[in-house]
Amino acid sequence: MTPSYPEQAVAVLFSGGDAPGMNAFLRAIVRLGLNREKIAVLGVRDGYRGLVRTARAVNGDAEALMRLKNAIASHPGRAGLINDQLDLIQMDHASVSGIMGKGGTILGSARCLEFHEKEVRTNVIHLLKGLNVRALVVVGGDGSLTGAKLLATESDLQIIGIPATIDNDLQFTDMALGVDTAVNTLVWAVDHFIDTARSHRRVMVLETMGRASGDLARMAGLASGAEMIITPESGALKAADMERLAAKIEGAMTRGRGHAIVLVAEGVEFDPPQKRNRAYVLMDAFQQYFQRSGAPFPDLEVRPSVLGHLQRGGHTTPQDCILAARFADCAWINIGRATGKSGVTALRKNNIEIVPYGEPDMPERAAFSREMEQLHDDLSSW
Ligand code: ATP
Repeated sequence: MTPSYPEQAVAVLFSGGDAPGMNAFLRAIVRLGLNREKIAVLGVRDGYRGLVRTARAVNGDAEALMRLKNAIASHPGRAGLINDQLDLIQMDHASVSGIMGKGGTILGSARCLEFHEKEVRTNVIHLLKGLNVRALVVVGGDGSLTGAKLLATESDLQIIGIPATIDNDLQFTDMALGVDTAVNTLVWAVDHFIDTARSHRRVMVLETMGRASGDLARMAGLASGAEMIITPESGALKAADMERLAAKIEGAMTRGRGHAIVLVAEGVEFDPPQKRNRAYVLMDAFQQYFQRSGAPFPDLEVRPSVLGHLQRGGHTTPQDCILAARFADCAWINIGRATGKSGVTALRKNNIEIVPYGEPDMPERAAFSREMEQLHDDLSSW
């Protein structure tokens, strides 16, 4: 007997840059759907791109939609995951087994420029309705949640957003999914760089991700004991600022410090602007300062490293797995509500809430960032 297509479903997709905790979230949303809510969960491959591709293939044709439903129903779980012709997979228990701690996302994530076009989104809305989807859960960063907000305003579907980005640049939540793991990875990386910095009496300048936010560098700085953090929130760096920072390191060396780890966030800007990576610009500025005439440590070497995508991978921390489960729980509670309201999950003062799209920035976030920076300064002064 051919398995039948579900009468109602909730769809989930992962969009934008991947973040650790996405798989833990998928497991939680699927298991809660099957165990508690008794609603089928459709996993979407490659984020919005998977929906756009499928909507284009179906193209409003009733027979094509029926064929798609049959294909989804006859390839549940892993059978669907290994069938790369299928962008929507009816997830089962086994398909989310053993994925909780794995970084990345088994469904794939993508950027999809076409999703900026209203007509493309309208076709996606028709597709979702045709597939009996009652709610769509969008997991991603700022851009992905903007796409989710547009879907929510342009349709009567319930669209639940889940903040997931290692950048922690979403100011409506204390933490996004993936941040804790990325900080963990950075602390691990700093530990490795310290070994070589100490052995060679070097200054290592490490560039972290974070887009316009310095949170990742700040948290990693506090947790690793890195000597210096440079974040975008302090404003664009002029030549004099870089000299002041180099003088601070030199001062620490004079007082007996043998090495220094400097974390610079990728969002840091320079005045005048520079095209090269921040770590390299700072290396040159520092090196020039250390080698000025009459300097006490002309042999002090500065080495740069751009940590890049390393920060996205790795084993998801328990903290992120717990946050993923709590976000999934909150999503289902709201999907179950008769109001059918759209919104995005947020961690606030250790509560998980659903807040409207486009909530203003929480002032506490900026205050917390300043406090962290001050605390780091007080802890690392030599
Ligand atoms: P990260 O913070 O990790 O980079 P992100 O979600 O911010 O993740 P983006 O590349 O900004 O990543 O956005 C991901 C996708 O979301 C885009 O490729 C696009 O499909 C969709 N998207 C972004 N902005 C919009 C928008 N204004 N309108 C419609 N869709 C959008």
